[in-house]
Amino acid sequence: MPELPEVEVTRRGIDEPLRGARVLAVRLGKPLRWPLGCPAETLVGSTVGPVSRRGKYLWLPLQGSGGLLVHLGMSGSLALGAAAAPAGPHDHFDLVTSHGTLRLTDPRRFGAVVWSPAIDSGPAAKLLAPLGHEPFDPALTPALFHAGLRRRRTAVKTVLLEGSLVVGAGNIYACEALFVAGIDPRTRAERISRPRAERLLAALRETLARALDVGGSTLRDFRDVHGMSGEFQAEARVYGRERLACGRCGGTVRRIVQNQRSTFFCPGCQTR
Ligand SMILES: [Zn+2]
Repeated sequence: MPELPEVEVTRRGIDEPLRGARVLAVRLGKPLRWPLGCPAETLVGSTVGPVSRRGKYLWLPLQGSGGLLVHLGMSGSLALGAAAAPAGPHDHFDLVTSHGTLRLTDPRRFGAVVWSPAIDSGPAAKLLAPLGHEPFDPALTPALFHAGLRRRRTAVKTVLLEGSLVVGAGNIYACEALFVAGIDPRTRAERISRPRAERLLAALRETLARALDVGGSTLRDFRDVHGMSGEFQAEARVYGRERLACGRCGGTVRRIVQNQRSTFFCPGCQTR
C-alpha cells in the first residue's frame, strides 16, 4: 500500500514537470473508488499548478477549473509519460497534457481522482477534514502531540495508524517509531508521559525522514516507487522481524495483532 513517503516522492516526481502544463484531454477507465464528479471535458484547456500533498492525497490545482484530488488507494501509482502509450487493463485515468500524460495505474481500484472547486471546499474539503496534523508541520509541537494522546484511550499504535492525530504513520513506520521511542505498542495513549510523547514524535519524524531519503534515491534511479517500502523495510529494526534477534538488546522480536494489523516490537526495549 502506498504510504505517505511514497506519495510525497510521487509528488516530487511530477510537480515540476507538470507545472504550467495545459490539459489537452482526459481519459477515464473503469470506475474507481469515487467518481470524478464533473464532466471530464470541462477540464480541457485548464493549466496545472503546483502539486501539493495532504496526508496520502495529492492535490493538482487546475487554474480555471478547480482541481483534482488524487488518492492511490491500496495499489495505485501515478506516472508521467512523454507520449500516451495505449492504456492497459489497469490504467483508469489519464490526464493528457502539453507536458506529457499523467496516468493512474491501479489494479485494485481503491484509488480515486475527484474533482473539487478548491482544496478547501467541496469534496476535497470533506475528504481531508478527518486528517490529523502533517508529521513535519512545526505547528505540531510535542505539547500538542502529548495533549492529543491524552485524549485517546486506545493503544498508542492504534492511535498512530488511525491518522486522526498525526498522518503518515503507516504500519511499518508506526512500528519502527515506537521501537525507536522505546514504547510498548499496547500502551494506552492517554498514559504516555510528556517526555515519552516528545520522544515518539521525534522518532516518527526521524523514521519518515529516513523513508523519504530512501524514496529520493528510488526516484533518482527511476525505479518504481512501490519498491520503496521494501527497500526501507530491509533496514527495519522490528517490522517483519518476528522471532529474530533485536539488534539493540539481543532479545527476540515479537509479533502481535492489533486491529487486524501485525505489530512487531521488542519486549526488552519497549516498555509500557
Ligand atoms: Zn530489544
